[in-house]
Amino acid sequence: MRLVDSYGRQMGDLRISLTDRCNFRCVYCMPADGLPWLPNERLLTFPEIARLARIAVRMGIRDLRLTGGEPTIRPGLPHLIRMLQALRGEGLESLSLTTNGLQLATLAGELAEAGLTRINVSLDSLVREKFHRVTRRDCLDRVLAGLAELEKYPSIRPIKINAVAMRDFTEDEILAFARLARERPFVVRFIEFMPLDADGNWRRELVLPGREIRERINAWRPLVRIDDPDQSSTAQRYRFADGVGEMGFINPVSEPFCAHCNRIRLTADGQIRTCLFSIDETDLRTPLRNGASDEELAAILAMAVGQKELKHKINEGAAFQRASRSMSQIGG
Ligand code: SAM
Ligand code: SF4
Repeated sequence: MRLVDSYGRQMGDLRISLTDRCNFRCVYCMPADGLPWLPNERLLTFPEIARLARIAVRMGIRDLRLTGGEPTIRPGLPHLIRMLQALRGEGLESLSLTTNGLQLATLAGELAEAGLTRINVSLDSLVREKFHRVTRRDCLDRVLAGLAELEKYPSIRPIKINAVAMRDFTEDEILAFARLARERPFVVRFIEFMPLDADGNWRRELVLPGREIRERINAWRPLVRIDDPDQSSTAQRYRFADGVGEMGFINPVSEPFCAHCNRIRLTADGQIRTCLFSIDETDLRTPLRNGASDEELAAILAMAVGQKELKHKINEGAAFQRASRSMSQIGG
């Protein structure tokens, strides 16, 4: 049984949320006071996650991405990475982690040793005061120290930095981020602000389109498009014409890429979401804990994927309905 949806899209990428909790409170994601957290007994255990991941890999998933909330606050993360690495023999091609970077200064070595091969670090500002304002935590130095530590482990590559681009916030740092991509071994990517913030403050005027950012960088130092053989890639990739550095632009609002979407998500409490903007979820935790066989779980997964949404409707006015959960609860 393969994970193909009703539009013929084969799923290849499973994002697994390890927790809905976080040590940051980014304004575009979580309220200042946090959210009602999931009780621990509803979180999938590592053996449960590994079992579902194995089933998904056997159905054609090639990339696993661990996320949250903040995945590094889940105790024993390197152990889970070791368990998932075992799926390489079954068809898994890459295992990555998306993190706010706060713990990397102490955790990077253990992650490398456990077999992590790729990482995405979120970093929205290189200016201490702005970083504090956007994350509501005065921790820029710790994240930068974490990035410096990561550089010591060449087995974790690429190191991608993701910056959420927001109007009247990001513009004055575009070139600083471009310099970072040229001077350090980081692929720097801008991602457009999406209506997934728990506070519900998203407005179209706050979206800073990727094209505008790219044009600013291109006027400074010419960029050349990288032809990505992977059609399902979310980022438009560019390298600098002189060969030094790579940048990416993830433009889900201004240039949706739903037609080639191959992603599904498993929430920390074991629900399958077939779109970031899903209104409905499919419960895998209950059958899993009620003794369902691998075949039965695979059938539930296949059925959920069969109903995957064609596209998001952010640009369709009243047809757009906010997702049933916000970003940190889904696993971005
Ligand atoms: N805590 C980790 C982190 O921040 O990298 C992992 C989870 S976080 C939800 C995953 C990614 O979603 C981050 O890169 C974050 O910047 C992004 N994100 C969160 N809310 C967003 C929003 N409303 N629009 C666009 N990206 C968002
Ligand atoms: Fe936490 Fe990541 Fe959301 Fe920021 S974007 S509040 S770091 S889950």
